Amino acid sequence: MNAIQHTVESLRHTFRPDQVWPFLAPENAKVNVDKDIILYVEGLNLSFDGFKALNNLNLYINDGELRCLIGANGAGKTTLMDVITGKTQCDSGSVFFGQNQNLLNKDEAEIAQLGIGRKFQKPTVFEEQTVFDNLELSLKTDKGVLATLFSRLTPTQIDRIDDVLKIIGLAKHRFMLAGALSHGQKQWLEIGMLLVSDPRLLLIDEPVAGMTPDETERTAELLTSLAGDRTVIVVEHDMEFVRSIARTVTVLHQGSVLAEGTMDQIQSNKDVIEVYLGEQEEGATS
Ligand code: ATP
Repeated sequence: MNAIQHTVESLRHTFRPDQVWPFLAPENAKVNVDKDIILYVEGLNLSFDGFKALNNLNLYINDGELRCLIGANGAGKTTLMDVITGKTQCDSGSVFFGQNQNLLNKDEAEIAQLGIGRKFQKPTVFEEQTVFDNLELSLKTDKGVLATLFSRLTPTQIDRIDDVLKIIGLAKHRFMLAGALSHGQKQWLEIGMLLVSDPRLLLIDEPVAGMTPDETERTAELLTSLAGDRTVIVVEHDMEFVRSIARTVTVLHQGSVLAEGTMDQIQSNKDVIEVYLGEQEEGATS
């Protein structure tokens, strides 16, 4: 190949006709969901010392849906979340946020910046700070230490925090120390701490573990209300709760998708009963 052919060839690769050129893309096209799919996980593999934690895993999440992810202990749910959020690198496969954002070449901070928020099982709020201050701190965490300490909230930011306080049902508790909240309220506050930065995709790990029945019911309402404008993926073992919120349920088993469908389809699926639901019922009766 001569020098001219080489230049033409490399330009062809740089400016692919099927892509919007970066300098022409409007800011709000950062995540391209033209095909209504916000998360593409394809052929994902990850082994720990020869043990396949993720095994050719394929998963597609629609923009705005509330998806429940279930599966026995060790099925690979947390490992999948770790790969999506950049905490762990996979061996092979691909993970795209919308059609255009390759998450596998980004670090945890870049992935969060794109609008993917993750909530771990245990609430990690700042107990000595008020509810409002917790939300304020999360809003400013990307501004650096000095700005976090000394900058004032703009009216828009105050409105944002007020909106979030209403969404999570803690408006009346805004001046309460977070340490004085109930376990359920701390979980809602932590969800609020994600919401202040207006994420597109929320990954929420076992939100109702340890909650009272009333708190569980309110959490179901909260997560259901969040979907639509945002996409929510919930990992949960509590089947009653899953039934109350889920439209589509994905069952993981040994690092792969075993089944996917409505809760009724999942609960009558023989493979799922054999490897997961049967085990759960035995656990409940023993
Ligand atoms: P649970 O419901 O108990 O949280 P899970 O579906 O989230 O289970 P994972 O935590 O993803 O399962 O674990 C999948 C498998 O990978 C398990 O067998 C686990 O022991 C293993 N595993 C996960 N992380 C590591 C690691 N860093 N090193 C070695 N093995 C690991």
